[in-house]
Amino acid sequence: MTRVPFLSLDELHERLRDEILSHFEVFYDSRSFILGKEVGRFEEAYARFSGTRHCIGVANGFDAVYLALEALDISEGDEVIVPSNTYVATWLAVSRTEATVVPVDPDPHTFNIDPAAIEEAVTPRTRAVLPVHMFGQACDMEAIAEVADRHGLFVVEDNAQAQGAECRGRPTGSFGSINATSFYPSKILGALGDAGAVTTDDGALAYHVRTMRNYGSGRKNFHEVIGVNSRMDEIQAGVLAIKLKHLSGWIEERRRTAGWYREELEGVEGLILPYTAPEVSHVYHLYVVRSRYRDELRQYLADHGVETMVHYPVPPHLQRAYRGLGFGTGSLPIAEELAETSLSLPFFVGMTREQVRIVAGWICEFFERGKAGNGEG
Ligand SMILES: *Cc1c(COP(=O)(O)O)cnc(C)c1O
Repeated sequence: MTRVPFLSLDELHERLRDEILSHFEVFYDSRSFILGKEVGRFEEAYARFSGTRHCIGVANGFDAVYLALEALDISEGDEVIVPSNTYVATWLAVSRTEATVVPVDPDPHTFNIDPAAIEEAVTPRTRAVLPVHMFGQACDMEAIAEVADRHGLFVVEDNAQAQGAECRGRPTGSFGSINATSFYPSKILGALGDAGAVTTDDGALAYHVRTMRNYGSGRKNFHEVIGVNSRMDEIQAGVLAIKLKHLSGWIEERRRTAGWYREELEGVEGLILPYTAPEVSHVYHLYVVRSRYRDELRQYLADHGVETMVHYPVPPHLQRAYRGLGFGTGSLPIAEELAETSLSLPFFVGMTREQVRIVAGWICEFFERGKAGNGEG
């Protein structure tokens, strides 16, 4: 039995070994560890990549979302519309500002927030909408901007999962007034530890975040606002700058791998493959399929050496942390259905055609056997 891991960095790390390790030596000898040249250089490169005027490196993705919202002065009494099916960090960053999360259900085909549902959730207290480009597919930012403009709302993108994706040819992370991303190691662009960034065209917002991340200090020993410590490490910035140069090639590879899965799995009855809306592109942070037999399929694959994951088994509104909001089971039915039916298949840079064939083979066999079983029963 050939095992297939859910995520392997083996191949990617092997390819980068010399480049990163020789850079590590430069870093080690520089004796500069926090907010130095490397961070500045990466910020410039990532701003260019995102098509924004400014990028501010921060300590992680959570802080990036929180600081973006904080820069817009979002606070207690405000409401922020969020996807019901996102990773809980999106909600937690809103809660950190003491604003209220207002979840809305997604389009089940794209997993992305539904602009019509945003419109229905707007109240006089709504200040912002926080779309997440789920699993690597860009949201329809034009439709979202249209609703936001009509109601005078800020748009803040949580681009933790979709660096390099586009909506109508324009990169994610460039649509909102101010946007956030994460470089958690398993993300599309991953550091060797925690890191994140904020992107914006607005110089005043950029200055605010830049100040906030370093104890509210714009100038050494002078503290203009009550800031936090959310600085990006030099070593992470250096690694990210190297990886950023390779990112578009990796995205091509990810799309090719997604194509292989589609070739193998198209037409399997009982299995829903990822769908990409025509106006956007997908960078496949995750390859998420759906089936009402998800748990049985997952077990079957595990029994045959194929590791899978579920993103995410418990939606934020059903987490204990959010019981205070009073959402019961059934209150956000699409998020709940996705939580019960979604399965993330093995997917990573360096995955081989053969590995895809093995995973797909077991999936086909599962559904064939299921049919046979039904026939006999
Ligand atoms: C990973 C992630 C975050 C948080 O990023 P960290 O760097 O882990 O703090 C926020 N939002 C979404 C959608 C994510 O996937």
